[in-house]
Amino acid sequence: MIIDLRSDTVTKPTKGMLDAMFSAEVGDDVFGEEPTVIALEKKAAALFGKEAALFCPSGTMTNQIAIKVHTQPGDEVLCDTTAHIYNYEGGGISFNSGVQAKLLQGERGRISAQQVLDAINPNFDWLTHTSLVCIENTANRAGGSYYSLKQMEEIANVCKKNNLKYHLDGARIFNAIVENTYTPGNLGKLFDSVSVCLSKGLGAPVGSVVIGDNQFIAKARRVRKVFGGGMRQGGYLAAAGIYALDNHVERLKEDHKRAKELGGIMLGLNYVDSVLPVDTNIIIFSLNDKIKPEDFIKKLADNNIKAVGFGKQAIRFVTHLDVTDEMLEKTISVLKKINS
Ligand SMILES: *Cc1c(COP(=O)(O)O)cnc(C)c1O
Repeated sequence: MIIDLRSDTVTKPTKGMLDAMFSAEVGDDVFGEEPTVIALEKKAAALFGKEAALFCPSGTMTNQIAIKVHTQPGDEVLCDTTAHIYNYEGGGISFNSGVQAKLLQGERGRISAQQVLDAINPNFDWLTHTSLVCIENTANRAGGSYYSLKQMEEIANVCKKNNLKYHLDGARIFNAIVENTYTPGNLGKLFDSVSVCLSKGLGAPVGSVVIGDNQFIAKARRVRKVFGGGMRQGGYLAAAGIYALDNHVERLKEDHKRAKELGGIMLGLNYVDSVLPVDTNIIIFSLNDKIKPEDFIKKLADNNIKAVGFGKQAIRFVTHLDVTDEMLEKTISVLKKINS
């Protein structure tokens, strides 16, 4: 039994998902005749109460497409210092869109409306044009924290008043939704575009969708083709996405319960210095100087547990569809053994 806590991207399709994939009706999506891709896009758009959606190979691509459509070269994007678009997309915002980021120091990955307001450049020829705000919900690097609806609304109001576009990197938006009272429909009203990963906690093997109005999606389709993301019989993958949205949303709560249980025992371990609050399915903790991260990861690996370092003394565990209660118990007992 291998227990893979490196990421919620490691999930493999379930039997039900594979059946849905095998029986998908397919066509050529570049010609606009992929029935299953179209069905997924319609479903995602309707869920968020927006006009249209676009199926893409990755969440990096959906974010990068949105940034490209919302900005002009030389513009500035406002985001938190820990943002995926800034840290983990290979410098794509400058490479693809020729824009720069102004980084805001949020609270556990969450920026505030006041910070956004203070960061907008006045309209002078010599100042960078601020055109886009990007928030991440849940915030990965910050340990899976989530925004309240009010926080997101306040930023939306600042964006509207100041003519800024507002993009949600919702790679794990359903992890936030199941912990809150807001719905995808509430979010669709606030944002110009929303990116959702199907291949994280939702358990699809590949794929993300970006959601917006018709005009935005028409432009996004062109950019997707330029980025090399125009897929053909993508319906086999889209079928997995539809299955994931139908079957794997509510169960995210189970991942959160397991993550909280794991997080709860971490502080009792004599080699753990601190643990970030566990709000969803991500546990980020810091080892004290009794143990080197590479030695800790090796000890876990010797017990068939996979984890990744997350900078300096920090380690990240992520719970997901393929982590069972049995695996959780085994992990806890191994962690306690390392303790002694
Ligand atoms: C995973 C992730 C993405 C997209 O990643 P891909 O691996 O390209 O699908 C975007 N934003 C956040 C916050 C993520 O965690």
